[in-house]
Amino acid sequence: MRGIIYDGTAASLVDDLEVRAPGPREVIVAVKAAGLCHSDISYMHGLYPVPSPGVCGHEGAGVVAEVGSAVSHVAPGDHVVISTLFSCGFCKACADGHPTLCRKSIGNATQPFTRNGEQLWNFAATSAFAERTIVGDMQCVKIDPAIPLTSAAVVGCGVVTGMGAVFNRATVTRGQRAMVIGVGGVGLNCIQALKVQGASTIIAVDTVPEKEALARQFGATHFLDGRRPDIIDAVVEICPPDGLPNRGFFNAGGVDWAFDCVAHPAVTETALECLDWGGTVVVIGVAAQTAEFKGRYVRLTQIDRGIIGCRAGTYAPHRDIPHILDLYQRGEVLLDELVTATFPVERWEDAVHKLEAGEVARGVLTF
Ligand SMILES: [Zn+2]
Ligand SMILES: [Zn+2]
Repeated sequence: MRGIIYDGTAASLVDDLEVRAPGPREVIVAVKAAGLCHSDISYMHGLYPVPSPGVCGHEGAGVVAEVGSAVSHVAPGDHVVISTLFSCGFCKACADGHPTLCRKSIGNATQPFTRNGEQLWNFAATSAFAERTIVGDMQCVKIDPAIPLTSAAVVGCGVVTGMGAVFNRATVTRGQRAMVIGVGGVGLNCIQALKVQGASTIIAVDTVPEKEALARQFGATHFLDGRRPDIIDAVVEICPPDGLPNRGFFNAGGVDWAFDCVAHPAVTETALECLDWGGTVVVIGVAAQTAEFKGRYVRLTQIDRGIIGCRAGTYAPHRDIPHILDLYQRGEVLLDELVTATFPVERWEDAVHKLEAGEVARGVLTF
């Protein structure tokens, strides 16, 4: 079968991959569509601290091809979103509905693929860039077959990461003001989840001004060019310090929530400076393991500000994916519009170039 592998030096499309038979709680999915996200490119460039050679891809949707003996919630022929999150299902974190905190949810590298007798690793417990992949039963979320698989493909990671940060990690209430820094596949989903939650002001910030139209289509009420040196003042102009003549000693005015989808030290610091009293920065982006940020203590104390991290939208696949698809089918959030380009898997290099150039919101590979 075909698949995109990373051999430790470079990525390539091959046609002689094989995948082993499923264990009792595993499922073989015939992948029909797979999202390409920056994490995939990092892996293809050897920047991800996981083993190779391996089969790339971590966002997919497809049709169940084969199930293990103990799998009962899906059957061959079912359409599924593959969730990249693998969890045990039994620990305290899983029982509490926080599987992103399950100790088993990190480091699920196994070697289920072979090529010419050589064993290949999976990537992010998913390996969606293969015609058939193998995942844990809890990673398969059954969906309505009427939903286009190209749209469903991006839900299992990018969409749920952005929306989940708003729905699960933050506690956004009606009428609050928010900013989203980084209008990519994750940021657009923060924006549309904020709209669903009833945020009154949603400021999108990006260094690519051409993203304004897309940001507004997804619900942004304002757009600011992230290169502006006066970006903090611009945010406060939109969200003034009601009741005070100026920001004062404790930096009144600004947003209640700042979603940092970039995770660059300067961006996180700017986000902190843009908070109103009681505001919180939610860091979603993935930074280098050793990257650091700095900020002033006075921004946190006295006025109850905070900085929190969020992994993959703090999501629970079987709670959040059906919720998001329900919002989509009722027309409350956009998914089809998120996928601005599809590429047959043979054109995967085009998809990589277009994502790196910022020319696509989400590109999806099809099999
Ligand atoms: Zn667990
Ligand atoms: Zn991803």
